[in-house]
Amino acid sequence: MTATHAFWLAGRQATGEATFDVTSPWDGRLVGQVSVPTEAQVEEAVAAAHAVVDEFAATPAHVRAAALDHVSKRLAERTEEIARLITAENGKPLKWARGEVGRAVSVFRFAAEEARRFNGGEAQRLDTDAGGNGRLALTRRFPKGVVLGIAPFNFPLNLCAHKVAPAIAVGAPIILKPAPATPISALILGELLAETDLPAGSWSVLPVPNDRMPALVQDERLPVISFTGSDTVGYAIQRSVPHKHCTLELGGNAAAVVLADWSSEEDLDWAATRIATFSNYQGGQSCISVQRVIADASVYDRLVPKVVAAVEAQVTGDPTDEATEVGPLVSEDAAKRVEAWVDEAVKGGATLLAGGKREGATYAPTVLADLPADATLAREEVFGPVLTLHRVDGEAAAFAEVNDSKFGLQTGVFTHDLQTAFRAHRALEVGGVIVGDVPSYRADQMPYGGVKQSGVGREGVAYAMDDYTYERVLVLTGL
Ligand code: NAD
Repeated sequence: MTATHAFWLAGRQATGEATFDVTSPWDGRLVGQVSVPTEAQVEEAVAAAHAVVDEFAATPAHVRAAALDHVSKRLAERTEEIARLITAENGKPLKWARGEVGRAVSVFRFAAEEARRFNGGEAQRLDTDAGGNGRLALTRRFPKGVVLGIAPFNFPLNLCAHKVAPAIAVGAPIILKPAPATPISALILGELLAETDLPAGSWSVLPVPNDRMPALVQDERLPVISFTGSDTVGYAIQRSVPHKHCTLELGGNAAAVVLADWSSEEDLDWAATRIATFSNYQGGQSCISVQRVIADASVYDRLVPKVVAAVEAQVTGDPTDEATEVGPLVSEDAAKRVEAWVDEAVKGGATLLAGGKREGATYAPTVLADLPADATLAREEVFGPVLTLHRVDGEAAAFAEVNDSKFGLQTGVFTHDLQTAFRAHRALEVGGVIVGDVPSYRADQMPYGGVKQSGVGREGVAYAMDDYTYERVLVLTGL
């Protein structure tokens, strides 16, 4: 018997009238059935969240911090079980799934720390102008209201953590909507939240079907939308509710730049290993996976064989096997899309240096050179284990190549030179520049997000807390 997972409605477990299946992308086995909330149950959750906005905002910081610490501790205790569940529903290899749980442990801990120091407020003298004589302004941040958190499938636990933990830290109720392919990790997170004494209405985890999401998005009782997912869905949401605060964490086609000074054998070996690992981890299904390698002509010919060898050495297969580095994509359809894009590029003149094969939902780690400019792969986010190689002459050309993209999430720049690092920081149109490593590095406390069509707003616990709140000023007169 496979378990049926209840959802979380205003802090308690509930079931609806229908269920849907969650299957493993690796072998198609049924991982679990998930209960779907009815429209009346969604309404109940939204009404309950709306009703506790003031109460939750007034909850003492130490109470919210203790709840966040509790979730962090319990996630750590249940790491292995939750990691296996992530692997089952998402297909990501166990070693990456364990890493994801570890990151969620940190996100809740960071949020507990931030909750304790948030909102000290500031005083501002207003008598710097004659109209302000005898006046003082006190500024504090208050929650904007209930947050609607919409999460993607690729980090089914940690990207939910990035929405839930900052909301609790500021005392903003949250309705979390996990991805249809991977809802069970989010429902387990609900089990841990239920062990806390947060106000009942302050959180819900609702696996609402996509076709019913527009109504929820438009609900005026949910003034903040924190969305992580594709640009198509993200921008459709933003267009439908232009008056709401929308944080959009969208896609990318991140580049790793290897400059002329990164040239010793040791340098190139390190770059090749990091590039191979982080173009393929989780089957390339990370918004900051390496999709493009932009290498200076002086190192390109030595780098390419190293990258190809490192990519071919990636162990592909059963995600529950400890040795596996690259598992299946989230579905066979996703793998077929990647296959079609690679085939199109090869037909258009690209040279296939590794991979290019599909078996079910698994796509072999793939390297392409000579990518035609009009290939889909040259413009869009592949979200699969595919790397394209680009030869450039000099730093300026490399940075121009990075910027020749509609996306702008993060870039990795392999250089030893501090001045180059500062120039990259100034020149690159992205949310983050990682020097000496691939673009795929994310620390959960740092600001994280994109420019251009990679989105608006920033996550990273303290930054999301700012997003979920606004400054309200108190002016005192006659002082
Ligand atoms: P998706 O856009 O298909 O789905 C994301 C979420 O939106 C899911 O929960 C889905 O059920 C929901 N959704 C679908 N239709 C909706 C609608 N009409 N209204 C409201 N919600 C709706 O994305 P995905 O395939 O789950 O995730 C992959 C994408 O996420 C990639 O583009 C990836 O780059 C991006 N991503 C971005 C970041 C980041 O921080 N920038 C992180 C991870 C993933």
